[in-house]
Amino acid sequence: MTHVVSEPCIRCRYTDCIDDCPVDCFHLGPSFVAIDPATCIDCGLCVAACPVGAIFHADLLPVSQKDFLELNAHFARLWPRASQREPKLPDADQWRDVTDKRRWIAD
Ligand code: SF4
Ligand code: SF4
Repeated sequence: MTHVVSEPCIRCRYTDCIDDCPVDCFHLGPSFVAIDPATCIDCGLCVAACPVGAIFHADLLPVSQKDFLELNAHFARLWPRASQREPKLPDADQWRDVTDKRRWIAD
């Protein structure tokens, strides 16, 4: 199994989770991070690190977020691996309570 980053991360991308991952399985996109399911060891350390509650074990993903299992695998193949946190996006705080953000996942 794997952990999965879901919709609240989009356009927030605080990256607190990256520092806590012992196996560097996060991949950094322009406004979202994706977990590589082939690397994740399901330690769960990133779950509490995320300030917007975006990370779930795959078995615990809300029904509305099930598509993020495949989206994480897809974008982890495209984006570079990240091993340390980055500055948050300049307007991250304005986006943290916005829902329905899928259209911006790769912007
Ligand atoms: S801590 Fe949460 S919001 Fe920040 S990059 Fe990780 S999953 Fe996205
Ligand atoms: S569950 Fe552990 S191994 Fe998987 S992404 Fe989170 S911190 Fe990394």
